[in-house]
Amino acid sequence: MSTVTETPQKPAVAAAPEAPPTCASCGAGPAAGGTTFKKCSRCKSVRYCGRDCQQAHFADHKVECKAVVAERVAKVLEATGQEKAAG
Ligand SMILES: [Zn+2]
Ligand SMILES: [Zn+2]
Repeated sequence: MSTVTETPQKPAVAAAPEAPPTCASCGAGPAAGGTTFKKCSRCKSVRYCGRDCQQAHFADHKVECKAVVAERVAKVLEATGQEKAAG
């Protein structure tokens, strides 16, 4: 007799509602002391553990940053309702 223990297939890890903030540059997570993450002042879509990381990463991030900001501006323009000639 061989005991085969079949592990039931568990569904993939459920998507966490909100991932803990991690530094987009060095990947550091929240520290025990309570690191204050700084958001990118332009797009606010990425976080950094400090100003050094923000500056170091901006060379890589600036392209995405611009895209995010541009997209946001476009959406705002849409939302504010460009007066369309209703006829
Ligand atoms: Zn960092
Ligand atoms: Zn940015």
